[in-house]
Amino acid sequence: MIRTIPPVDREMLDHGLRRLKLRRMRQDLDDINELALQEEPSYMDFLGYLVAREVEGRENTQKELRLKAARFPFYRTLDDFDFSFQNSVSQQTLRDLAQLDFLRTRENIVLLGPPGVGKTHLAVALGIEAVNQGYRVQFITAQDLADQLYGALADGTVSQAMNKLLRNDLIILDELGYVQFDATGSDHLFQLIAKAYEHRSLIVTSNLDFQDWGRLFDQPATAAAFLDRLLHHAHVISLRGDSYRVRHRLTPPMKLEP
Ligand code: ADP
Ligand code: MG
Repeated sequence: MIRTIPPVDREMLDHGLRRLKLRRMRQDLDDINELALQEEPSYMDFLGYLVAREVEGRENTQKELRLKAARFPFYRTLDDFDFSFQNSVSQQTLRDLAQLDFLRTRENIVLLGPPGVGKTHLAVALGIEAVNQGYRVQFITAQDLADQLYGALADGTVSQAMNKLLRNDLIILDELGYVQFDATGSDHLFQLIAKAYEHRSLIVTSNLDFQDWGRLFDQPATAAAFLDRLLHHAHVISLRGDSYRVRHRLTPPMKLEP
């Protein structure tokens, strides 16, 4: 039973905070102590404030680590997306998806359309939302996936590579359609989707319509089986229109009044 609280030994306190890995508390303690001497909060408020800042700091660190690990090609959010330029998709649909129910129910999202219409942007925006909500996300292009798989095949680490990918809550497979997979590649790509099916969510972007997916795989039957798993629980969004890239490059510079 504690009866009296002994005066603090500042060095011991520092040592204790270090041992408990309370890095921010250790950093902020003097400043907050200073503040507390002026404001005279209750002891509980004082402690609560220190703890809340430690928790917040840790969560931010974790979020940044998850953001780095996701390997997004750029950082763009739904707020950066101009829905008036891209009006073949409703803002409401994307805002609903950004609530991330699809992740909790392990559903997939497929974004289809020609180059430049915003498929990658929207996939990244949803990925960033997922990172912010505490999910582990991995962005990978079909080309990089193929390279990784073949690299892993060469040194016998395919299942490790696959499992590492499948540890994420969300896998964003970008630009399916530009790389054709040979028999081994097709087989591994199918394995990936079969393992992710109903356990992990995928966002897939592609420039190909579904009827052309047969070309991606070594055999049409593999394409059919792949699509079957992918689309069983999926939100399919078809984007149309002009390329945002091209349009914005072609926009002439504003004329200055003479
Ligand atoms: P896709 O993946 O369909 O080829 P991207 O998503 O990579 O196209 O878009 C190309 C570029 O244009 C990106 O820099 C993206 O941020 C931007 N972009 C595309 N559509 C929009 C839009 N509607 N509003 C704002 N930026 C857009
Ligand atoms: Mg793209």
